[in-house]
Amino acid sequence: MRTRQQRTLARSVQCSGVGIFTNSDVKIRFFPAPENHGIQFVRTDLSGSKPIPALIENAVFRQRRTAIEFEDASVEMIEHVMAALAGLQIDNCRIEINAPEAPCFDGSALELSEEFLEAGIVEQPFPRKVISIQQPVTVDNEAGSFIQARPLNRSVMAIGYYLDYGAKSPVEPQCLTLEINPEVWMNQLAFSRTFVLEEEVAAMRELGYGQRLSAADLLVLGPDGPVDNELRTLDECVRHKMLDCLGDFALLGCDLHGYFSANQSGHALNRELIRQIRLTHQSTESETAWKVA
Ligand SMILES: [Zn+2]
Repeated sequence: MRTRQQRTLARSVQCSGVGIFTNSDVKIRFFPAPENHGIQFVRTDLSGSKPIPALIENAVFRQRRTAIEFEDASVEMIEHVMAALAGLQIDNCRIEINAPEAPCFDGSALELSEEFLEAGIVEQPFPRKVISIQQPVTVDNEAGSFIQARPLNRSVMAIGYYLDYGAKSPVEPQCLTLEINPEVWMNQLAFSRTFVLEEEVAAMRELGYGQRLSAADLLVLGPDGPVDNELRTLDECVRHKMLDCLGDFALLGCDLHGYFSANQSGHALNRELIRQIRLTHQSTESETAWKVA
């Protein structure tokens, strides 16, 4: 099996933005971390708060987003941050955040990804653990959405996503299959923004969400297409769903090799798939990937 070395940032990175659910100003800082540290979030606004490892064991149920919780601390909306780290194969990072949720940015992971690339990414002397899918794992829901992991005869992750919300939806049916690596991440997925239907916006505002954001800040889709905005690609929606998959898969805490086919899958199904894979598969690491520090 082909494995790679673990990687971390060459220097720290700081970003700021607004939280979509709490409307708060958020400062988020990313620090290099040692081998086998993984991705951990620390809530700096809660005194004495312990780091929260970004692992499926700490994921908690939320609608339309991914959140982690450990003891009294939680962080919401971590999926785009996780996707940017996973897309660029940054395995070890300590993340300090001064709010209960990650900033929304422009709904994509592009700004973060560009910041990470500018800071630089360095290899570490330990190999990255890998789970290679050995037998099919499928999860589905009553609405007919599903996501399936299947073995692949190469040491890569490939994601195929099919999205069709029906004839009445402003989102056109779209599908895409990509083999994931840092170059594909930067060129094909990082720019894709989260989207919301115009008819859902009023309900979200009633819940108090997104009060400091306008349609120009993320992708609101009405009957005639994007409101006060333009699509970055015709299939931006399916690309964002794949970005979300990548962020949720990263909760496994290791590389994942196999073919993942998704049909309308969202965060809940993605997380359930990762839980199932955690139960049914062991991670392995190749001895040939060891280097002496
Ligand atoms: Zn998303």
